[in-house]
Amino acid sequence: MIELKAVSKRHRAGDIETTALDAIDLHIEAGEYVAITGPSGCGKSTLLGLLGLLDLPSSGQYRLLGEDVTALRPRELAALRRGRIGFVFQSFNLVDEMSVADNVQLALRYGPMPEQAQRQRVAEVLGRLGLSHRAAHHPSQLSGGQQQRVAIARAIAARPALLLADEPTGNLDSGHGQEVMQLLRELNDEGTTLVMVTHSAEHAALASRTVRLLDGRVLVDACAEVAA
Ligand code: ADP
Repeated sequence: MIELKAVSKRHRAGDIETTALDAIDLHIEAGEYVAITGPSGCGKSTLLGLLGLLDLPSSGQYRLLGEDVTALRPRELAALRRGRIGFVFQSFNLVDEMSVADNVQLALRYGPMPEQAQRQRVAEVLGRLGLSHRAAHHPSQLSGGQQQRVAIARAIAARPALLLADEPTGNLDSGHGQEVMQLLRELNDEGTTLVMVTHSAEHAALASRTVRLLDGRVLVDACAEVAA
C-alpha cells in the first residue's frame, strides 16, 4: 500500500535547511498497524505528513496504492487523499459551532455520497463508536475522550483505506487514552491500515510493527513478537 524509496524531506526556514527525513525506505502493506516512534525532532510528524499527502518529499519516490504520488499536483493530491486517508491528531480539531453529527458529516460533504446516504453513514459510524446518544451535542459538551472518538468517527466516515494518527492520546488522561487505543486496535482488526506516531512505548507495543526513527533515519524496524 505504501512504498517509500530513498525519501528525503528538507525544511527551509530562512537560510537554514534542516533534513527532517534522510533517504528513508519504508514499505507498509494493507492491514498493517505501524507505530512510528523516536525522540522529539527525529522526523515523525514530517513522515506522517508525507504519508498523508499533506506534503511532498524533497527527493525520492512515494507510491501510494500503486500510484507514484511525487509527480502529482496539489489538486490531484487532495483528490487522492479524499476518501482514502483519514487523519486523527492530538488536538481534536472539531468545530464547536456544529453538532457532533455535523462534524462527522463534514468528512463526506465533498464526496460523491448523496445527502441521505451521508446521514445514514454518520449514524452508523457514531453507533460504531458508541456515540449515538451524543449526536446532537456540541463537542465542548463532551469529555476529551469522547471528542477524540468523534474525531476518529470523522476520520473513518468515508471508509479510508489508510488511517494516520499523530499522538492521538496526547491530550487525554490515561483512562481515555486507553479507550482510544482500544478503538484503534479494533479498527485495525476490522481491516483499516493504521500508522500512528506515539511517544508512548506502551502504546507502540499495541501495534504489530514499530518503526523507530533517529535523526531522520530508520533506526529500528521491528515486528511485534506474536504471543504464543
Ligand atoms: P518529530 O515529529 O519527530 O518531533 P518533526 O518531523 O516535527 O519531528 O521535525 C523533524 C525536523 O524538521 C526537526 O528538526 C524540525 O525542527 C524540522 N522541521 C519540521 N517541520 C519544519 C518546518 N515546517 N520548517 C522548518 N523545519 C521544520
